[in-house]
Amino acid sequence: MNILVINAGSSSLKYQLLNPDSGELLAKGLCERIGIDGKFTYKPQIEGKAKQDAVDVAMPTHSEAIQTVLNALVDPVNGVIGSMKEIDAVGHRVVHGGEAFSKSVLITDEVMKTIEECIPLAPLHNPANLTGIRACQDVMPGVPMVAVFDTAFHQTMPAKAYMYALPYEYYEEDKVRRYGFHGTSHKYVAGRAAAMLGKDPSELKLISCHLGNGSSVTAIDGGKSVDTSMGFTPLAGVLMGTRAGDLDAGILQYLMKKHNLTIDQMLDVLNKKSGVQGVSGVSSDFRDLEAAGHEGITRAALAVDMFNYGVKKLIGSYAAAMGGVDAIIFTAGVGENSISQRMAIASGLEFMGVKMDAAANNCRGKETVISAADSKVKVLLIPTNEELMIAMDTAAIVSGK
Ligand code: ADP
Repeated sequence: MNILVINAGSSSLKYQLLNPDSGELLAKGLCERIGIDGKFTYKPQIEGKAKQDAVDVAMPTHSEAIQTVLNALVDPVNGVIGSMKEIDAVGHRVVHGGEAFSKSVLITDEVMKTIEECIPLAPLHNPANLTGIRACQDVMPGVPMVAVFDTAFHQTMPAKAYMYALPYEYYEEDKVRRYGFHGTSHKYVAGRAAAMLGKDPSELKLISCHLGNGSSVTAIDGGKSVDTSMGFTPLAGVLMGTRAGDLDAGILQYLMKKHNLTIDQMLDVLNKKSGVQGVSGVSSDFRDLEAAGHEGITRAALAVDMFNYGVKKLIGSYAAAMGGVDAIIFTAGVGENSISQRMAIASGLEFMGVKMDAAANNCRGKETVISAADSKVKVLLIPTNEELMIAMDTAAIVSGK
């Protein structure tokens, strides 16, 4: 079975063609500047097939972008499949499913309507995701399509974890609550952790640390998300590349009055000029910060310290929330690659049974146990693969599993 995975943005579209049973990636790439001048990147993963890097292709709308992807996939010379018939289904990443979707679903007219109703919760992302779905329906009529939501995995959180202490009508009428994001990634790594530990997910208490440009930490008890650090929006939780993370809401009023800022300007600061970028004044990229820290730039070192400390505190609080933890997972750009940050986050937790193995931790980007053999709590490095998770969910739904 082959599944085409689509992640549509307003002017871009990422794609992968995968076999969810074997995990084999056949091709991946990107359409950019859709509706502008159109750039197409195609990276077949099969020996002897040539890739194309940001070549000009007219893509006035997402439909031409999808058609360009299909043309490349079935190209007689550099294609990876014989015809479109070899694409069994399409899995679409959709950012927000609100409270309506607690798992991935087959896309119907009714589902499209409900995703539209979630637009106020994700005004930038859901419209673009819908455009991607409609373009695929247009170019690939009759091919089953599945929506996979970033928020769905977290719908198992109990009310005590997802409610904000605001007047209750803001939840009832305005749907203000913690939703959480990165759900596809947390679900994928939780499944891999269970496989690595040879246990059923129902037996495990896990803390999954997805640490990248955007970061979130999730408590997973018995295979279900029970708490997560992102909130109503992906601005919440630990500080991130350019996002502030959790902060005292009183600061907004103080700064807005003092600097005569509108709420949109304030939010722009919190989303784009804060986080490790704002604190360091150097970069939002953790590699740059590590280098700057070594050069003695104290604000860069402080930003990384604040980040590591924030993640460590979340691990402690989620262990308390679950009454223990069997394994801590590190994933995404920083989690998969930063040897020093994994060590800084997980050291000092010996009191709760976490003992790192420095030699095992000295590695990047592959599934590895990085805790010591006698560590009560296992620490795992697991590369995330959201596209594979989307393909697996899509295959399960279209084959009625
Ligand atoms: P996104 O949230 O955009 O998907 P990623 O998961 O790709 O982000 O993570 C990007 C982050 O990972 C960047 O801050 C980058 O610096 C960091 N990263 C990648 N490689 C390394 C590394 N070797 N050491 C430290 N950080 C790294």
